[in-house]
Amino acid sequence: MYLNLDSRLRGNDKKEVASSPPASGGRNDNMYMNGILEKIKSAGLVGRGGAGFPVDKKWSAVQEAVGAKKYVVCNAAEGEPGLAKDGYILEQYPGKVINGMQIAIDFLSAPAAASADRAEVRGYLYLNYKYHKKLGKKIAALLKNSPIEIFVKPLNSGYIGGEESAALNAIEGRRIEPRLKPPFSSSKGLWGCPTLVNNVETFYNVSLVKSGQYKGNRFYTIGGDCPHEGVYELPESFTIEKVLKQTENYPKFPFFAQIGGNASGEVLSSRQLRRPVQGSGSIAVHSITKTNFKKIIIDWLDFFINESCGQCTPCREGTIRLKEIFIAEKPDWVLFNSLLDNLVDTSLCSLGSSVAVPIRSYLKNVYPTVNK
Ligand code: SF4
Repeated sequence: MYLNLDSRLRGNDKKEVASSPPASGGRNDNMYMNGILEKIKSAGLVGRGGAGFPVDKKWSAVQEAVGAKKYVVCNAAEGEPGLAKDGYILEQYPGKVINGMQIAIDFLSAPAAASADRAEVRGYLYLNYKYHKKLGKKIAALLKNSPIEIFVKPLNSGYIGGEESAALNAIEGRRIEPRLKPPFSSSKGLWGCPTLVNNVETFYNVSLVKSGQYKGNRFYTIGGDCPHEGVYELPESFTIEKVLKQTENYPKFPFFAQIGGNASGEVLSSRQLRRPVQGSGSIAVHSITKTNFKKIIIDWLDFFINESCGQCTPCREGTIRLKEIFIAEKPDWVLFNSLLDNLVDTSLCSLGSSVAVPIRSYLKNVYPTVNK
């Protein structure tokens, strides 16, 4: 099993000192809360769910959206193979994640302008079934008397159940599939109300920023053909190469790496690792000699075929056709490429538009080297 939540963290291995949620009420005024926004902006926080959107911009959009009710959702679905850092953070620092959510609730409760009314704000921790089984009781105890409740991601909702708008549908009890955007959740999210959705790591970082403990670190999930798989906290400025070296995972054999998820992540050759990790922060190492290059592409395609929610035709049909073409005796590469273009251009959500990422980056960055 890939996940090692217990032993591989370095750089911040102190046990969490429980941080109590900020009291709402008297401190909840505009100036105070806008101070939080400024701190988040100065720290340069970006979302850690994959998209990397600036956190302050997302918070501002929900603050400015008109609504008597607003919601804060922490997305702890973490469904892509190769990712484990949210589970690690929830296990080690649940109080900080909840504190970050409470800071967001207080921020959005405060009127955006002197003339505006206070909004009623509630929170949901949208929790992966596996993490709920392991950590649910501990987290529920921390949520006593708070406006935040746990919503367990339905077991059969697959990878797509973690997509932002599909998660909102799940909480509302609707069919679990991505929503057409716009409107975005910042203006019309849960039950049509302005909703802030951030990832576990983002709320953890918000808590650190507020208490002055943020050091510009991020969490990396490292796995694959390496001796020390696990979750590590290291500076976000580190290059992929430096992260692998620092964690004693840099291979001595010919290899390539997949960055940002073992299904949808970009594939880079070992000469392309002098850049920071983008997206959700995973690094999977693949030995060139151990990897069957036909099988790895079929595995990616099978992931997308199985996880497609079937809502839109390019993804529902296109992923199956891609596999048919790829395994054919004489593949039609023109059609294959045109189907990939079609998925990028017309898919309703990022699952469909990501199909091309691992395949094209692998064919461009790695395949020519191993087939010289
Ligand atoms: S791109 Fe795929 S997963 Fe996304 S909405 Fe369309 S069918 Fe569903």
